Amino acid sequence: MAQPRVSMRRLCRLIPSQNSRLYTSRTIPQWQSLKCLPRSFHTSSALTAKSADKSSAGQKLREEWAQYSQFPSASKAADFVEGNKVTVHGFLLRRRVKSSKLVFADIQVENGPSVQVTATFTEDGSPEQLVTKALRAVPLYSPVCVTGTVAQLNSNRIDLSLDAIQPLNAFPKDIIVSEGVQFPASARHLQIRFSDPLRSRLLARPQIGFQLRKTLNDLNFTEVETPILFKSTPEGAREFLVPTRRRGLAYALPQSPQQYKQILMSSGIRGYYQFARCFRDEDLRADRQPEFTQLDMEMGFATGEDVMRTVETLVTELLPTLNAQFNIVKNGDDIYPVPKRGLNNGQATENGDLKWPEPTAPFLRLTYDEAMSRFGIDKPDLRIPFELHRVDHILPTQFVSMITHTENPIVEVFRIRPELDGETNNPGTVAEFVDKLMDQLPKPLAKNPDGAPAALMFNSKKPLCGLSSLGFEGFDALTSMEEFSDLEDGDVLVFQARKNAPFQGEGSTALGVARTHFYHAFVSAGLLPRNFDLKFLWVVNFPMFTPDDGIDPGQGGQAGFKATHHPFTAPLTEADVELLATDPLKARADHYDLVVNGVELGGGSRRIHLSSMQEYVMRNILKMTDAGLAQFSHLLEALRAGCPPHAGFALGFDRLVAVLTHTDSVRDVIAFPKSMKGEDLTVKSPSKMTSSQLETYHLAIAEKKKVEEKKDV
Ligand code: ASP
Repeated sequence: MAQPRVSMRRLCRLIPSQNSRLYTSRTIPQWQSLKCLPRSFHTSSALTAKSADKSSAGQKLREEWAQYSQFPSASKAADFVEGNKVTVHGFLLRRRVKSSKLVFADIQVENGPSVQVTATFTEDGSPEQLVTKALRAVPLYSPVCVTGTVAQLNSNRIDLSLDAIQPLNAFPKDIIVSEGVQFPASARHLQIRFSDPLRSRLLARPQIGFQLRKTLNDLNFTEVETPILFKSTPEGAREFLVPTRRRGLAYALPQSPQQYKQILMSSGIRGYYQFARCFRDEDLRADRQPEFTQLDMEMGFATGEDVMRTVETLVTELLPTLNAQFNIVKNGDDIYPVPKRGLNNGQATENGDLKWPEPTAPFLRLTYDEAMSRFGIDKPDLRIPFELHRVDHILPTQFVSMITHTENPIVEVFRIRPELDGETNNPGTVAEFVDKLMDQLPKPLAKNPDGAPAALMFNSKKPLCGLSSLGFEGFDALTSMEEFSDLEDGDVLVFQARKNAPFQGEGSTALGVARTHFYHAFVSAGLLPRNFDLKFLWVVNFPMFTPDDGIDPGQGGQAGFKATHHPFTAPLTEADVELLATDPLKARADHYDLVVNGVELGGGSRRIHLSSMQEYVMRNILKMTDAGLAQFSHLLEALRAGCPPHAGFALGFDRLVAVLTHTDSVRDVIAFPKSMKGEDLTVKSPSKMTSSQLETYHLAIAEKKKVEEKKDV
């Protein structure tokens, strides 16, 4: 039985007002009211203030308010010492009624070890019996304030013997909660509350931000806020416009603070950073959000090398600090960090086996061309243990014509070697798995105009080891290549053709996509181990320009191409400056992307700091109009005013948090993410403009037909 350890007088100090209903083993509650714990304010708030005042419903509303709104504050971490009386706020979870005289329940606290309360009694009519009953009566998942005596304290759990419980609102019966429940997107608050992984990731996010800020401050960077109400400029992405009450005038939301940060360089700020909210009205792909957060940086009197070194310092300093602050827990298939420090008197909890790898600088560098030819993608996942190899020169024409109709194609292949155990994973099960995988290829692979990938499995029991479609010659030539001289049973070879043309602005080839797709499928099927390493690398020397694809607006110039990164990026070498005039699509830029495990974490570049060169690139190379150039006059002016050489970078903060908290989706690290249609389903935005809003902003909705006609032009 819970022994009283605190005097009545001390406990009373925890009860701020007579109105507040704290059910304690020392006070005799009005038991009646426990039986009909108030329903949520949802129902009562429908009352108008006027009628509420006088009616009995008004009286009930006031009682509810008094009952639920005053409560003692929570104890500090240092008060959690065995034998001490403490107060905890949280949600009532997992109640276990062992008998009419013994009840356990967990209290979900925000940040720390779980709290278990025990209520028990021996004598009927005792105050302890009332508290036990109270614990049983509070609806599960309600917010509560509990006071209890610390019975046991260990790294993962705090046990309290319950002295008092006060519900602070009631969880309604019509919301059904079950293990792993998925609430609709409109109930994001419930998803966050009931999903430990989601909540943990949201709690980890600011800690990661805090460490990055700290390192940048230590490196003498200055945090500068730049305007959210910016102006429309053809920087590259489609913008969101914000109409104003001044007829015909609009702001644009910044696609990044790029131009402001360059103006800051001309202002004499040496190192700038900002956690910047950016907005891009792009077609949303799986892992894109129309608004997202970047850790945006710029350095004056600096080169790309200086920036890359600084970013490496940021990353390498971050991971050991996070390892010191978090445990990584495995919960079924989900893996996420939980803070080590909590209510437990500030003591660290035991560290699990899983830790973040702590990378060392300098990171590997690959040129864009090398990344594309070895991995078929400009953001390669270096955990994938196989590369692409060109083989069209050794393959019989018959095989090539079987896999593609493209004239004179390049054909590449990769070999994926599953981990076989002779039981569930054997060449037979691999063959079945690969057949299924090939039947369910994603559309861009299955419907590729250069042909779909072809997969062959090496099996020594079959004619030509299962590679008979290569013919004797092809088989001999392939197995004579060093990379394929050691083929084993179960090895899968995936072939793919592509056009024989230099890489120009694509992010990936079909075989690059297949490489990633096969790897993840093999990992999910348990045919390859899950790899928790973090393989950071820089991809450098991108082409300066990319042919127009008609998707992104680019700079609106007449050249038929747009800046690959943005139009402020400097050419890489003097030879590239020459190429601007002669063969601009061949010019390389001093542009670098930071990649980890197949995710582009961020990108940056050395900038053009001379207004003459900036104007030349815009006017003569991108062939922008005078009006287009005029939109950048503020930047050209800033460069003209003796702007020093400068370079910068932006780290996709949502993506970084997603990678570090082991999720593939940035939606899992954003409290209120937008859907694939760009909607916020919690608040239901965007919403229709009213006619009075249209009038205020001097706007009219064009007729549907007219918009469509314009699109066709
Ligand atoms: N503004 C660029 C972006 O948003 C980053 C940079 O070049 O610093 O991608």
